[in-house]
Amino acid sequence: MRKRIAIIGGGIVGSTAAYYLSQMPNADERDVVMFDDSYGQATKAASGIISPWLSKRRNKQWYNLAKAGAKLIPEIANATHMNSEIFDHCGTIITRENESNLDELYLFAKERTQVTPEMGKIQKLDRKAVQSQIPILTNPKSGVLVSGGSRINGALFCQHLISIAKKNNLTVHDGRARLINDHTISFKEQSFEFDRIIVATGAWVKETMQPLNVKVHVRPQKGQLVELKVPDFPTHENMPVMMPEGEYDFIPLGHGKLIVGATHDDNKEFDLSKEASVDNQLIDSAQNLVSGLTPTDIILSKVGTRAYTNDFAPFFGIVPNHDNVLIGSGLGSSGLTTGPMIGKLLAGSAIFGGHPDWKMYEKPISNYIS
Ligand SMILES: Cc1cc2nc3c(=O)[nH]c(=O)nc-3n(C[C@H](O)[C@H](O)[C@H](O)COP(=O)(O)OP(=O)(O)OC[C@H]3O[C@@H](n4cnc5c(N)ncnc54)[C@H](O)[C@@H]3O)c2cc1C
Repeated sequence: MRKRIAIIGGGIVGSTAAYYLSQMPNADERDVVMFDDSYGQATKAASGIISPWLSKRRNKQWYNLAKAGAKLIPEIANATHMNSEIFDHCGTIITRENESNLDELYLFAKERTQVTPEMGKIQKLDRKAVQSQIPILTNPKSGVLVSGGSRINGALFCQHLISIAKKNNLTVHDGRARLINDHTISFKEQSFEFDRIIVATGAWVKETMQPLNVKVHVRPQKGQLVELKVPDFPTHENMPVMMPEGEYDFIPLGHGKLIVGATHDDNKEFDLSKEASVDNQLIDSAQNLVSGLTPTDIILSKVGTRAYTNDFAPFFGIVPNHDNVLIGSGLGSSGLTTGPMIGKLLAGSAIFGGHPDWKMYEKPISNYIS
């Protein structure tokens, strides 16, 4: 009998799960249905930086997951022929104000690259060398270049994977779905039955799981960023992303476009309004790197809602006491990096069943669900 698998949520977790469900063995023996209303989606609003290796976070499971995600993303991009607007292996520059902190960062990067070849080449760059990499900068800082870092466009990444999956076994319904029980989803006053259900509803996961009496410990966080029009440098289409110390991230897109962001606001719940005062704050930060920028250079602002857990780590797997329901949420501010790996693991588990051991990637799921 054909297996029926549902995915609620079409952000990076749901879309990658859909892609793998269309590629893993016996894809023609299953039907996959995705429900997504895309409202407030974090993936669509994200800056797109994939460069977790120099993070000082001590959570080993998170680091293993982020490292595996950063390795998987270029593999997906190659396998699915993504263009450079969707995935760009542009490298990342992490700056430091102080020379001794820069040396420390450089040594740390050199040490990590020994066991993580996907980080690519590590180079210490002085201010002039940073400016030659990113010519828009009028006040460059010294930094460490990690050539393996990359940038993705979250919205296009998902669209691309969904379009591939649709050619095989995926159907997508736009709109809000409601979980009724372990097998049933209600959508536009119709009920649909499934063998497995993957819940990938990001910050809305608490509400999704309520009908099953499952409590999920996740809180929403608002993030806003701006896209600006800047002078075009035709010979520098492939500029690295910059993560400046004490300022917002700086993502030059080429063709005279630049992203600056993003904010982290814990007090706005699911508010998706674009705040002019936040735009000004982002411009102020960018002005410290590029003089002369003004709010009139803003082309658009984007807002999305991130999902956070108490220990800032994602959780995913089979929901305790609900063997047919899988869940993945709490990806916080690095979800574009960890999301594809979570989607892949959930897809495998939905197909092959059992209780896989993912101890190396996450703490027990019972820490996040009760
Ligand atoms: C401004 C900003 C900048 C960021 N920058 C980066 C970055 O540079 N690098 C990085 O690694 N990460 C970044 N992140 C984090 C990353 O974007 C998120 O962690 C990740 O995208 C979360 O993916 P997700 O699939 O779990 O959730 P989401 O992308 O939020 O997707 C969940 C989807 O489920 C849908 N949904 C919810 N309930 C229902 C329902 N009942 N029925 C149907 N659909 C439903 C929602 O509408 C949404 O489309 C950033 C986030 C923000 C907001």
